[in-house]
Amino acid sequence: MQHLVDTDDFSKEQIANIMHDAATFKKEMPSKLLEDKLLITLFFESSTRTRSSFEVAAKRLGASVVHLDPSKSSTNKGESLEDTFENLAAMEPDGVIIRHEFNNTPKKLANKNLTPILNAGAGNYAHPTQALLDYFTMLEHFGELKGKTIAIVGDIVSSRVASSGIRLFTRMGMNVVLVAPKPFMPDNDLPKYEKLSNIIDKVDIVMSLRAQLERHKAPIFEDYDEYAKEYCITKELFEDRDILLLHPGPVMRNIDISDEMLTDKRSKVLTQVKNGVYVRMAILKALLLDN
Ligand code: ASP
Repeated sequence: MQHLVDTDDFSKEQIANIMHDAATFKKEMPSKLLEDKLLITLFFESSTRTRSSFEVAAKRLGASVVHLDPSKSSTNKGESLEDTFENLAAMEPDGVIIRHEFNNTPKKLANKNLTPILNAGAGNYAHPTQALLDYFTMLEHFGELKGKTIAIVGDIVSSRVASSGIRLFTRMGMNVVLVAPKPFMPDNDLPKYEKLSNIIDKVDIVMSLRAQLERHKAPIFEDYDEYAKEYCITKELFEDRDILLLHPGPVMRNIDISDEMLTDKRSKVLTQVKNGVYVRMAILKALLLDN
């Protein structure tokens, strides 16, 4: 039984197959490969894109999806997460798609080996399907990513998208540089900059991230306009440079990215969302059929 806790659960060969399948599905919708499969989604944190994208992906492949809303489930009556999960697993689904605030929840449930676990975002540790769809979006644009440089900009320390992305992109031979004010900067060995303007001439891709105010105990900035002056991606900053712009969403307009840049053709924010469905279809196929 294979799980997806983070992208290192997939071999490079599996990742290449996922990229290939996603591109094939994007060209032509496949037949209902997962017609007899049933997935359960269990989201303990809010989600717009990831949950609907998983559901669309599963349904495009003919699978059924059951949602459990934890705010209306027995976790409210004091049932532990493990017990809730074991009860769901007893119904014999073909996989459980889980989002949780704790970093180790998907791993803990995967270790039970009751049903395949698909991590749809855990704490600030991992969001593997986002990393894979970001990788696909860059690959689709550049054809080859070895040696390309991506700057991750914003609230990196809170971001599971950044954590998974950093692990995947460096493994695949990309250069990753980090751009953030000190309170948003994680502790690792990657090159770090306080201003994007200091490195902008050397980057091929910029991934902007949301300031995740809900994950900081105390407010980091009193005034996000001050933050935006330095970190908002604007046309003045990009000028006519050939840089791909990514953001996992939700975008805080004019704090993360300016309105103008969101409609610029270098912005791939909605392409990421579109690609997310094809990549998740390919991931579902890899986990539920190819194993
Ligand atoms: N949607 C992403 C996540 O769930 C990023 C964000 O919330 O800012 O991690």
